[in-house]
Amino acid sequence: MPPAAGSRPPLFMLVVGETARGDRFSLNGYARPTNPRLAALDVVSFRDVTACGTSTAASLPCMFSHLGREGFAARTQDHENLLDLAQRAGPAVLWIDNQSGCKGLCERVPKVHAAERAPAALCSDGECLDEALLHGLDARLAALPADRRARGVLLVLHQMGSHGPAYWRRSPPDGKPFQPECESNALQQCDVQAVGNAYDNSIVYTDRVLAGAIDWLRRQRTAFEPTMLYVSDHGESLGEKGLYLHGLPYGVAPREQKHVPLVVWTPSAQRTQCLAAQRDQPLSHDHLFHSVAGDLGIRTSEYRAELDLFAPCRAP
Ligand SMILES: [Zn+2]
Repeated sequence: MPPAAGSRPPLFMLVVGETARGDRFSLNGYARPTNPRLAALDVVSFRDVTACGTSTAASLPCMFSHLGREGFAARTQDHENLLDLAQRAGPAVLWIDNQSGCKGLCERVPKVHAAERAPAALCSDGECLDEALLHGLDARLAALPADRRARGVLLVLHQMGSHGPAYWRRSPPDGKPFQPECESNALQQCDVQAVGNAYDNSIVYTDRVLAGAIDWLRRQRTAFEPTMLYVSDHGESLGEKGLYLHGLPYGVAPREQKHVPLVVWTPSAQRTQCLAAQRDQPLSHDHLFHSVAGDLGIRTSEYRAELDLFAPCRAP
C-alpha cells in the first residue's frame, strides 16, 4: 500500500542472528556485560523467545513462512515466503549475506554478499566479521528502485554471529573482554569456561554490530520510518549436560538450543514503552512473518494480528 501523503515509508531492518543464546544477553539478565552498547540505547529485548528449529537449515525457511513451526512441519506444498510476499506487495527487498547463503529463501529477490563492500581488515580466510554488513549500506539503499523505496524497504542482514565451533573467530582483537578464549574447534578439549569466554565475546561483538545498525537507521529518519528487529536462528549448547553445538532433534533438544534473543529498536519512545511492557510474553519464530508484514503495511490473507508483536503498539 503506498504511503499516505506526507508520511515516510517504513524501513524495516531484519537482522537474522546466528547461534545466539537468549540467556547470554545481559539485556535478558545474564550476569556478564555482553550488551554494553545496546544497554545504553532504547531497545526492547524480549526474554522468552523460542526458535522454530535447532539448526540454520531448519529454522530459516520456517522463520520466513507464515505457517509457524507446527504448520511448517506439516506442510504439504510450497508457499510464498516473507521475502517473496514483500517484493510482490511493492516494497524494495534486499538480502545482505555474511554467511553461507539464505537456504533458498532469497532466490527471487535482490541479494548481495557483505564481503563485496567490506574493508579488507574485516575479512580473512574467506570470512568477514559482521561489521562488513554495515559497510556500503547508504549506496545499497540508494541503488534500490525508487518506486519501490517509496513504498517501503525490507533489508535483511544475515549474520555470521556466534557460528561455531570457532567462536574465537567471531570477535575482533579489540573486542574480547573475556579471557582466556578456547581457540580450538575441538571444544571438548577446552575448559568449559574458555569456551564460554570465546562465545560471550561473540555476543559482545553482535552487540556492537547491532548498535552500529541502529546508528545507521537513525540517520535514515529524514526519508524513512525505521525499525530494527534482531532475532537469532537457534541457540547453542556450550557444555551443559556434556552437549556442544546445536542441531539435536527438536523434541529432545535442551532449552539452550531453542531459546533465542529478540531485540527491537524503534525511534518512537511511545512505541518502545508499549513494547517494553510486553517483553516477558512468550514469543517464537511464529511471530516473525506477521510482525514484519504488519510493520511494512503489507495486506495479505495470511496475516494474523495475534502473531504480530507490533500490533498492540501500533498507532490507531
Ligand atoms: Zn544457524
